[in-house]
Amino acid sequence: MITSKLPNVGTTIFTQMSQLAVEAGALNLSQGFPDFDGPQALRDAVGRHIASGHNQYAPMTGLPTLRQQVAAKITRCYGVEVNADTEVTITPGATQAIFCAIQAVVQRGDEVIVFDPSYDSYEPAVALAGGRCVHVQLNRDDFAIDWQKLGDALSPRTRMIILNAPHNPSGALISRAELDQLAALIRDRDIYLVSDEVYEHLVFDGVRHVSVLAHPELYQRAFVVSSFGKTYHVTGWKTGYVVAPPTLSSELRKVHQYVSFCGVTPLQYALADFMAEHPEHVDELPAFYQAKRDLFCDLLRPSRFSFTRVAGTYFQLMDYSQIRPDLNDLDMAIWMTREYGVAAIPVSVFYQDPPQGQRLVRLCFAKREETLRQAAEKLCVI
Ligand code: PMP
Ligand code: GLN
Repeated sequence: MITSKLPNVGTTIFTQMSQLAVEAGALNLSQGFPDFDGPQALRDAVGRHIASGHNQYAPMTGLPTLRQQVAAKITRCYGVEVNADTEVTITPGATQAIFCAIQAVVQRGDEVIVFDPSYDSYEPAVALAGGRCVHVQLNRDDFAIDWQKLGDALSPRTRMIILNAPHNPSGALISRAELDQLAALIRDRDIYLVSDEVYEHLVFDGVRHVSVLAHPELYQRAFVVSSFGKTYHVTGWKTGYVVAPPTLSSELRKVHQYVSFCGVTPLQYALADFMAEHPEHVDELPAFYQAKRDLFCDLLRPSRFSFTRVAGTYFQLMDYSQIRPDLNDLDMAIWMTREYGVAAIPVSVFYQDPPQGQRLVRLCFAKREETLRQAAEKLCVI
C-alpha cells in the first residue's frame, strides 16, 4: 500500500465542474478560461517559430528576449527596474512558479500563511515541502486582510506568507497602505512572500494594480508571480514567470531546473515577439474585461442573485441566498449545472473552514458576448 504524501487531495473542483459541464451540456462558467482565442498575431508567431526551427530546449531561466520584454513591461507598468538576467525566470505556468518558490524556501516544520478563500495549489505545494499552512480568513464582506487575525497567526515558525491580489475568487485588490502595513508587521522577521499576481492586468474602474514589485521593502523578500495565460488569453499554453531578487531567484532556479528545466521554446519566442510589437495589449485589457463584467452584471440585474461588481480578475461572485438557501454551495453549483445549464465554482472549496451560512458561487466572465447573454438568460430564470 502506498502511503500518500497528499492524503487529503482529490481531483480539483475545476476539473470536476468542467467535466460536469461537458456531461450536462452546460455553459462552462466554472473553471477560469476564456472561450475565445488569444490574438491572431500571437498564434501566428508560434507557427512561424515552429516552422523556422525554434524547437529545442530554451535556456533554463527562459529566453533572454522574453525576460527582457517582461522586465520592460514591469518598468512601464510599475516604474521599477528589474534585472532580466538575474531576477526574471520563465516557468511552465504560474502554478509551477509558485511550487518552485515554495520548495525553494519552506523547510520541514515551517508554517506558511495563506488567506482563505485561497487558491487550491498553495497548500499541496507547502505540504510537499514538509511545511504546514496556517489559514487566515479574509473579511467576509470585502475580502480584505484582517490584521488582527494575521498578527495572531504569526509565529516563530512562520517562513512564508502567500498573497494573491487581484484575488481569486473574490476579485479583491490590495492597496499600497496594506502593503505598508504588511511590511511593518514582518519587518524584523525571517519571512518570505509569494505574491501571486496572475490577474495583475485585470483591474477595473480606473484603479491601478498595486504590485509588490513596486514596494522595495517587501520585494526584497518576495517571489512575484504572473501568468502569460491570463494576460494573453492562452491559459492552455501554461507559461508564466517569477520575478525575485537575485539571491531568491538563484534558489528558485535550483528547483525549477529539476522540476521542468525550462519552458516551451516556440511559445516563449512568440510571446517575446508579441510583447515587443504590441505593448498596448496590457493597457487595453482592463477596458476589454470591464466591458464583459459590466455586460454580464447588467444582464443579471433582474435575476435573484445578489452581487457587487468585482474590482479585478475575470470572476464574479454571486450570492444565491434568495434562491436556494437550503443548498450548500457545492450542491448549488451542481444543481445550476444540471438543471439550468450554467456551471459555476462553489466558493467553500477555497476555505479550510468555510464561514457558516455563506452562499456564494463563482462565475467566470472571460467569455464571448454571445456566451454571456446565453448564460444570463438561463441564470435569470433560476
Ligand atoms: N494563481 C491563481 C490565483 C490562479 O487563478 C491561477 C490560474 N489558474 C494560477 C495561479 C495558475 O496560473 P497558470 O495557469 O499560469 O499556472
Ligand atoms: N485558475 C483557474 C480557476 O481558478 C483554474 C486552473 C486550473 O484548473 N487548475 O478557475
